[in-house]
Amino acid sequence: MISSDSNAHCEAFEVLNAAGRGEAVILCEHASYRIPPRYQGLGLAEADRQSHAAWDPGARAIALQLAKALDAPLVASRVSRLVYDCNRPPEAASAMPEKSELIEVPGNRSLSQDQRDEREMTIYRPFCAAVERTLEARKKEGLSTVLITIHSFTPVYHGTQRAVEIGILHDSDTRLADAMLAQAPALPHRCVERNEPYGPSDGVTHSLKLHGLKNGLANVMIEVRNDLLRNAEEEALMAQELLTLLTPALCALKQEGCKDA
Ligand SMILES: [Zn+2]
Repeated sequence: MISSDSNAHCEAFEVLNAAGRGEAVILCEHASYRIPPRYQGLGLAEADRQSHAAWDPGARAIALQLAKALDAPLVASRVSRLVYDCNRPPEAASAMPEKSELIEVPGNRSLSQDQRDEREMTIYRPFCAAVERTLEARKKEGLSTVLITIHSFTPVYHGTQRAVEIGILHDSDTRLADAMLAQAPALPHRCVERNEPYGPSDGVTHSLKLHGLKNGLANVMIEVRNDLLRNAEEEALMAQELLTLLTPALCALKQEGCKDA
């Protein structure tokens, strides 16, 4: 059960199941398409405001189901990545993109340093601080942690159809990704790929590096093609499929840790 005590939320983020005692902490940086009123919709058409450019459809739903199944704390952003992409450092142009795939973002054109700073301080920093607090609290309690970030991606990008259905992404620490990919034959109907449709050279492993590698935590980024997440039933099915990869992978990693100790 997701407990409501010790949960927290504010404009920038929410922490669910904060007291979860499982071995994972789950992040969802692109969980919401919400644009706080002061940004006046970034000048976007309504359809664009809720498109995959603005968020990862279905990602929060599967992150929540994994959090329940693994008894894991979940830290999710509550602001559209077009306002600030919490999986990017402030100095990256893509943190506040002027253009995302085919969508121009008028409200991000020629931002002043003050405007960039305001978004960093009100969205990115609070999100990062929530992740740090969650990790720190577990460390104090002697809980070991692996870090999992959950994303979804569009089936057609710049006009090209993507075959990959589940991407298992990693940076320099491949432990958890390797262990999950070793389980891929358990999903013979799925196209499961390593570092697809993105990889470290696309800048998508910012959270993994900042919160995982820096703290010596095994980590993985999971990307699911969003045409497999069209409703609650499909989201539940996908969460189960991800658990088919994750549960034995977490177990294998634990045994590896025991051997080291
Ligand atoms: Zn994403």
